[in-house]
Amino acid sequence: MLRSGQKQYEQALDNFFKSQNGSRAGQKMGKPRFKTKTRSTDSFTIDAVDISSSTMIIRDIGPKDHARYKTGEASTGLIADYRHVRLSHLGTFRVFGSTKVLVRQLDRGGRIKSCTVSRSADRWYVSFLVELPTEITRSTPTKKQYKAGAVGVDLGVKSLASLSTGEIIPNPRFLRTADKKIKRLQRKIARCQKGSKNSIRLKRRLARCHHELALQRAGYLNELTSMLASSFSAIALEDLNVAGMTSSARGTVENPGKNVKQKAGLNRSILDISPGRIRTLLEYKCADRGVEMQVIDRFFPSSQLCSSCGSKTTIPLAKRIYHCDVCGGVIDRDVNAAINIVYEAKRLVEQKCSEHSAPEGAEDKRPWSVHLPSTQYVDGLHTRKRQGPSGHSS
Ligand SMILES: [Zn+2]
Repeated sequence: MLRSGQKQYEQALDNFFKSQNGSRAGQKMGKPRFKTKTRSTDSFTIDAVDISSSTMIIRDIGPKDHARYKTGEASTGLIADYRHVRLSHLGTFRVFGSTKVLVRQLDRGGRIKSCTVSRSADRWYVSFLVELPTEITRSTPTKKQYKAGAVGVDLGVKSLASLSTGEIIPNPRFLRTADKKIKRLQRKIARCQKGSKNSIRLKRRLARCHHELALQRAGYLNELTSMLASSFSAIALEDLNVAGMTSSARGTVENPGKNVKQKAGLNRSILDISPGRIRTLLEYKCADRGVEMQVIDRFFPSSQLCSSCGSKTTIPLAKRIYHCDVCGGVIDRDVNAAINIVYEAKRLVEQKCSEHSAPEGAEDKRPWSVHLPSTQYVDGLHTRKRQGPSGHSS
């Protein structure tokens, strides 16, 4: 615990000094501050050095005895199930999730680097940082994935994602639904006496609301990205400037912006689908499964090009259907963009291959075969609607 605190302090100081002399990109960093009861997240990290010297064990490998532990009990002995973890000096705890994946990784030669215990709302979490031997981390796409080829993904507000295969994944709009409940609680808290027992109780309820929403969102995005990374051999994404897209329209006092409220609503919708998160998730899931991922330039006019003839027509954001003046094609706006994205990505990859002119270049291009939606898509309006990842109503 001490050691991780020291490490964090070191990092914070380093960030501060680098920010001062300008060698650190991004926002200016302040001086390191102490954790406080109100501002900070409740969490602590146990370093690997401490782990190896103490009694923290996930599950001993040995004869299966069905030892059962109650929370806090038993600091020694075997843990034979996938439901307990033992933390040094704290005892053995029943966990909500299964430790099976973790135990398997350790069996295959993974090494625990650190362990973090944290609290969100009224739930406690324990997470382990595991270093895996490199030979087991990368696999290749399956035959089915190669057959499905590459997919272009256009992230949007109207629907969460549109695929170049013609599928549309609806936006669950969790925030909209949870918004009502959250707002009601916030009003109630505002009416409370500050620091009263009732306000503390309500604040805890609000925190739980926020946390549950975050979990729902994370679950949905995880399902979506897993689906993408395990059903295609290559994925093309657009690089979105999230900070720029969601900047406030408020303007300055002398020069106030227009449509501030509308922009705020749009910003909320954009952040609700968390495009940055989707990309981060895809990056590691693709790397795990050996799926190629290509991010294309944010200035590529994906929504303005015609996906069948390549001519350029500017269409307003409100128009959902793309009409091509040159070839007369009619197609869903977002599917059109997704198809453009996948072709642009394919072009980039092929360009890169020909530059290097590697003999195995032909094999590298294999994941990038593009399959367009069937004839249905030509009239655009009949795009298939995929029921988003299961279990959530939109
Ligand atoms: Zn056209």
